[in-house]
Amino acid sequence: MTQLFENYQWNSALFNCQSNDLQQFERYLSAQVKRLNMQAIRLGFVDDSHQQYPLFLYQSANLCSEKPSILVCAGFHGEESAGPWGLISALAQLGSSVLNKVNLSILPLVNPSGFSIGNRLNLFQQNPNRGFIYQSGQVVSNPHTSVEGLILQQSMATLLAASKHGILTCHEDVLLHDTYLYALESHALPSPLSYQLRDSLGRYFPIAADGEIDECPVKDGIIFNHFDSSFESALFQSGSQIAICTETPGQQEFDQRVLANRDVMALFINHFVNENSQ
Ligand SMILES: [Zn+2]
Repeated sequence: MTQLFENYQWNSALFNCQSNDLQQFERYLSAQVKRLNMQAIRLGFVDDSHQQYPLFLYQSANLCSEKPSILVCAGFHGEESAGPWGLISALAQLGSSVLNKVNLSILPLVNPSGFSIGNRLNLFQQNPNRGFIYQSGQVVSNPHTSVEGLILQQSMATLLAASKHGILTCHEDVLLHDTYLYALESHALPSPLSYQLRDSLGRYFPIAADGEIDECPVKDGIIFNHFDSSFESALFQSGSQIAICTETPGQQEFDQRVLANRDVMALFINHFVNENSQ
């Protein structure tokens, strides 16, 4: 049986609209990707008899194998709307010279149908961040794979190349007042980047106490090397060097969550810019 989730929406003073205003979101996004001269690639679309929702990937125009390739994603879950709006804010403060130093790819809104009503699931009541199964060197679907998941899986080669040096995916935990992140890394302990991202979130919200969240052990605000059938887990298992999934707390003020998402995205991008400048 499908679990039903509540619809959530908040007012944003920063953007002067509701958090689920898809048209306004698309207007802001289109202005930023145009300013940064990013290429739009329509990976597919989700539709029912009423409406069609395209799923776009955007990439910096001059991809080059000398530069680090990183992927920033948001909006897998429709109620976690501070992620997509945070991405608009991060893009807005990005100088175009940054894109000379990294191959930046973004999936700004994976689940537009859920976003438009503030619901976690898509219009078919599927969870877009489940059903990415890493098996025998490739990512395959299972009965839980959503329509968005199938679209992403069809473009896996592109997405894997785009996230070769790292993927950041920005989620929210609507039930919490505290913040935390998931880190997937090929080391025994989280890297300095993971702690820096946690501290960036910690400037806005309390960091979750040690214990368990969703049955995963959390220590110092980090759930380390937990593998599941999420997009980020599948990309990491397929060869991305680091996968980070941040969780801002939905019980806190919306615009603060937008700014926290902006800051972790900026920090993540600049980490690779600086690495490349050394
Ligand atoms: Zn989520």
